Amino acid sequence: MAHSADKPVVLVVEDEPAQREILSYNLQAEGFEVLRAEDGEEALMVVAETPPDIIVLDWMLPRVSGIEVCRRLKMRPETASVPIIMLSARSEEVDRVRGLETGADDYMIKPYSVIELMARVRVQLRRTRPASVGARLEYADIVLDSEEHRVFRGPSELKLGPTEFRLLSTFMEKPGRVWSREQLLDRVWGRDIYVDTRTVDVHIGRLRKALCMHGGDDPLRTVRGAGYALG
Ligand code: CA
Repeated sequence: MAHSADKPVVLVVEDEPAQREILSYNLQAEGFEVLRAEDGEEALMVVAETPPDIIVLDWMLPRVSGIEVCRRLKMRPETASVPIIMLSARSEEVDRVRGLETGADDYMIKPYSVIELMARVRVQLRRTRPASVGARLEYADIVLDSEEHRVFRGPSELKLGPTEFRLLSTFMEKPGRVWSREQLLDRVWGRDIYVDTRTVDVHIGRLRKALCMHGGDDPLRTVRGAGYALG
């Protein structure tokens, strides 16, 4: 289940093959990495192996229902913050309420417009993975424009290599969060690429140098035995 670094990973859970393929095709065309599952049980297995950035989840599924998948994922601290968009053929208000009560972040009634679904996926990712959808991120005097791929500190533009840029956008999406070297490897280099964890230290060193090139304090913090954090 290889996926390249930095692309947002979407899990599509849909038991109807044609619908699953249309959705996957459109998401891939929009630059997402797509994982697929055809029933609730498979969805839970995929999530355990490769936590996605967002899940598009059909309500009516064989084995474990979409509602149950949603309920279980929202109960676990490791997966509770992954946005879930539920799809359902039912249109009754009561079902909509039930869907949101189980913790779904959004809800669409079939037949839905693929364009609208893409827009809603972006809305959710703007909240949880802002750099992946071209947002502008700010932290103290650092500004990262993920659409134009430019970074400024105060009035000066910084020159960052591609790896340093991805590292910085990862940090800027969640200031204060401590990332272990393994987590940074997964996010920045990709899950299936073998890179020594010391490589992370090398690129952190380069990022620090670039950030302080025109003066200013080092905003990156080394957390002993844990990893790195911004601020
Ligand atoms: Ca279904």
